[in-house]
Amino acid sequence: MKQKFEPFKERVYLSSPTMHGEELKYMTEAYQTNWMSTIGANIDSIEADVAKKLGMGYTVALSSGTAALHLAMKLAKIKPGEKVFCTDMTFSATANPIVYEGGVPIFIDSEPDTWNMSPEALKKAFELYPDVRVVMLAHLYGVPAKLTEIKEICRQHEAILIEDAAESLGATYQGQQTGSFGEIGVISFNGNKIITGSSGGMLLTDKKELADEARKLSTQAREDAPWYQHKEIGYNYRMSNVIAGVVRGQLPYLEEHIAQKKKIYQRYQAGLSELPVKMNPFDSDKSEPNFWLSCLVIDKEEMCKQTRTDTEASYTSEQGRSCPTEILEALAAINAEGRPIWKPMHLQPIYEKNIFVKVDENGVDEDIFNRGLCLPSDNKMTPEQQDRIIDVIKSCFE
Ligand SMILES: *Cc1c(COP(=O)(O)O)cnc(C)c1O
Repeated sequence: MKQKFEPFKERVYLSSPTMHGEELKYMTEAYQTNWMSTIGANIDSIEADVAKKLGMGYTVALSSGTAALHLAMKLAKIKPGEKVFCTDMTFSATANPIVYEGGVPIFIDSEPDTWNMSPEALKKAFELYPDVRVVMLAHLYGVPAKLTEIKEICRQHEAILIEDAAESLGATYQGQQTGSFGEIGVISFNGNKIITGSSGGMLLTDKKELADEARKLSTQAREDAPWYQHKEIGYNYRMSNVIAGVVRGQLPYLEEHIAQKKKIYQRYQAGLSELPVKMNPFDSDKSEPNFWLSCLVIDKEEMCKQTRTDTEASYTSEQGRSCPTEILEALAAINAEGRPIWKPMHLQPIYEKNIFVKVDENGVDEDIFNRGLCLPSDNKMTPEQQDRIIDVIKSCFE
């Protein structure tokens, strides 16, 4: 950092829970009526509300988004050793559930327009591995992927599309909610997501048989019998009615949260417009993101030298240039939380032997990882705080 700034007394977070009061009312209601289990009015209410909001036939409230993704893999009947195409630049929870079922993720590079799965790379992957039946697609940072193209490729290959919409609740593509395009959709109510239950997730589908099966698997796969009768291996994945109370209190504020996040994104965009950086892009003709996280990427020519090993980062300060490591350090120095771009899965030690399919020789997502970062995007950040953050970023380029 080339200039000194006053740190914030209270930390400004990347994205922290924003409560409104009704959460406590519904949690208390669960307590007072003694529905302190995985059945109750809060669960019924949020399942109905999310189904209506997202235009999905069926919803199953679960203990986490990861649990929902795991059940999606069960429903897709992934066999041991079966290859599954998967978004490469995402949080590991998108890919891990494939492996829980013995599947083998084949990672697909991103495109530069939305930072999501590249349809061209997906097409190439189907040429290389025509037998693949399942595509796991994430919508990064709340920006919808190129759904028209990806759905068409899946249709041509009769592949099942599963959408990881954990980060994109409320984002739309051609007016339709993300999470409702695939055979199965998944959302998350983790503490850092746009709507939270402190934890929790949900599986979405239009097929009653799939929803019934997910519900059964999530409650230990009990058969219809007078005693505990089992024909399948089950899980304890159902959401608690107390957690559902928090989600129930939060859901009416989804639009408000999106509007706040959008303002934050636009404020960064305007404030950083003089710098050699770009905000995380989206297709404004087709999609409306939920703006969960605002990110920036530094122009190639204006990057200072940055070195990353598996666990450490360093850089050489240069006049007029900067890099994510320098900016993240400068943000940390004023008590603001930024984060590197999600490190692509094909660069992770656990997945380094997995196949990675790209069309651009240099790889698109590794480059975004090197040059990009997530900015503090908390709904509760004030315009004054954001202005200081913008000044700090500017100072990195001095
Ligand atoms: C948060 C997240 C998940 C996992 O959701 P949990 O509710 O934390 O289990 C899955 N995929 C993506 C892309 C996420 O960001």
